[in-house]
Amino acid sequence: FGRRPWVFIRGVPALKFLPPEGPPEIAFAGRSNVGKSSLINALVGMNGLARTSNTPGRTQELNYFVPEGYSGAEDDLPPMALVDMPGYGYAKAPKDQVDQWTKLVFDYLRGRSTLKRVYLLIDSRHGIKKNDEGVMDLLDKAAMSYQVVLTKTDKIKQAGVPRLMSDTVALLKRRPAAYPEIIATSSEKSTGIDDLREAIALAITQ
Ligand code: GDP
Repeated sequence: FGRRPWVFIRGVPALKFLPPEGPPEIAFAGRSNVGKSSLINALVGMNGLARTSNTPGRTQELNYFVPEGYSGAEDDLPPMALVDMPGYGYAKAPKDQVDQWTKLVFDYLRGRSTLKRVYLLIDSRHGIKKNDEGVMDLLDKAAMSYQVVLTKTDKIKQAGVPRLMSDTVALLKRRPAAYPEIIATSSEKSTGIDDLREAIALAITQ
């Protein structure tokens, strides 16, 4: 992830606002409050990059982050871009907002050739929920490679982590686009963050 600080470059509310395809992209998805902002901040080693917020459902945008100092010209592209997808799954979301989310995300997943992998974040206290399965259906349908990341593992009994990991892997068996290994993380304790960095470094070369 280098030494450069990362910067927010763009919020994308609809596909026509996407930046031109350039560097490989890695996207992050998860239920609202899953710990997505905290994980992105931990990955890049910056506290305030992705907004950590408890007000769910406010942003319906794909947020783009890149390392600082690249012009974006064809011969001066950043090595990768991180894309923070809007959180989903808040109980009070009106149906048209959910439909809008699904359309934006599905069109992005299907049409973005530089998108290398989606990291699907699952709160280790809650496991995979119905709406996570809905997102996995979208990812499988779009044939977009995805890998599950368990978040907040500091909040569960440490002895239960291996079992949770194997149970989660078992749930992914029949999902064609799911990567067969998952990563357990805690942004709070910085566990699993290096594993995730390594997985991302590999994914962007594929
Ligand atoms: P987002 O809505 O998915 O972006 O989630 P946030 O990153 O804003 O986190 C939601 C809440 O969970 C915040 O109160 C965070 O402090 C907390 N949180 C996030 N990651 C962790 C973690 O690894 N461990 C613990 N204990 N809390 C976390």
